[in-house]
Amino acid sequence: MRRGEIRLEEKEQFWKRLASRLGQERPVLLAAAVIAFVAIAAGMDKWAVFALWVAMALVALARSPLLVEIKPAAPAEEEAPTHQSALPQVSAVLGALDVAVLVLGRDASVLFQNRAAEKAFGAMTIGAHISARLRSPGILDMVRETIATNAPNQIEHSERLPSERVYIVRIAPIEVPDAGASVEKLFLLSFRDISEVRRIDRMRSDFVANASHELRTPLASLRGFIETIQGPARNDPKAQERFLGIMLDQTTRMSRLVDDLLSLSRLELKSHIAPDETVDLVPLLGHVRDSLLPLANDLDVAINLHVPEGTVEVAGDRDELVQVFENLMENACKYGQEGKVVDVWLRNGPGQPVEVTVSDKGPGIPAEHVPRLTERFYRVSVEDSRSKKGTGLGLAIVKHILTRHRARLIVKSEIGKGTDFTVRF
Ligand code: ADP
Repeated sequence: MRRGEIRLEEKEQFWKRLASRLGQERPVLLAAAVIAFVAIAAGMDKWAVFALWVAMALVALARSPLLVEIKPAAPAEEEAPTHQSALPQVSAVLGALDVAVLVLGRDASVLFQNRAAEKAFGAMTIGAHISARLRSPGILDMVRETIATNAPNQIEHSERLPSERVYIVRIAPIEVPDAGASVEKLFLLSFRDISEVRRIDRMRSDFVANASHELRTPLASLRGFIETIQGPARNDPKAQERFLGIMLDQTTRMSRLVDDLLSLSRLELKSHIAPDETVDLVPLLGHVRDSLLPLANDLDVAINLHVPEGTVEVAGDRDELVQVFENLMENACKYGQEGKVVDVWLRNGPGQPVEVTVSDKGPGIPAEHVPRLTERFYRVSVEDSRSKKGTGLGLAIVKHILTRHRARLIVKSEIGKGTDFTVRF
């Protein structure tokens, strides 16, 4: 629409409103007409009556808001700023976060602490300076700097108590428009807990270091023997035969290690999928015992099986459960050899969980080692394990399989008396 058209429309509206206004003021106009008529009848000068009449009409029009109505609407008067803080809204959002968060004022006082922060650092006094609870010079310097420069900042911070934790602590200014027209300057201090990430990183690098170390030793010895056979023992068939025997042992050890590593990684991939088969543990334990008889005979150990009548079924993967009991019985024979007897008990009392206990009468395991036995490559004695063809991965595999089976491994050991490994389904 063009400018001229707008003006035309405004004029039309004016006349319409004037007509309607005159309609509304009809009583006043009527009264004016009656007065004029009476005045003329009474012999007043007709021009004086006309002037009176016009004056009355003007009064009527002046009362009318007509002129105001056609003027463009005046902008609404601005509301006076109320300066109501936006902190409650900000806090409501931050309260729902699972990351520990504090809101600080310009003077580094704590204005808000969310539940995650309360859990991590204990309740803080609202209004108190941040240093009343957090003493770390790194964090305090960073807070001071950001308040002064308005630039976000972050540092890594570790806490030792109540438990060892590592955080990425970040501070950033937030400018929140408050209920009035002004902007409220607050500072958001957040604590991202990276302890678990660090632990997994450390585990991964330890694992790679351990696995390489385990493979490097037999590889180095293989290389040494090959060089000897090519050099000094070139014409010594007896030495060659002996060295080849050792080399075969070393390669067998390496392939055992690789098998165990592959087994672990396969188990990790399906750790969250519970097995859906049903397995009868009675024949399974008999099968494992039979497969270990050659080893038990070599070590001069008897494996005694104590199973109830009938069947004892659990939800499980047969091959994996065979691997679990093979590992436990083999360890009992190897490390409890001097006890000469390994007892395997299968219990399923009414209302009781199904349990399998593999019990030896060996030297036992010192208490400080027990909680770490299922860690990869953890061995009470590395030499002892190596001499018994151990890889240090057996119990780690057992633990992974049992986790997938929602079963627990309970270790009870007494020095000089022996060790019980119990699997509770
Ligand atoms: P390895 O391949 O060394 O046998 P495992 O993970 O099966 O690895 O066992 C870890 C360590 O636990 C072994 O090196 C050994 O020191 C200890 N261990 C396991 N079973 C027994 C047992 N029945 N008696 C004493 N020590 C045991």
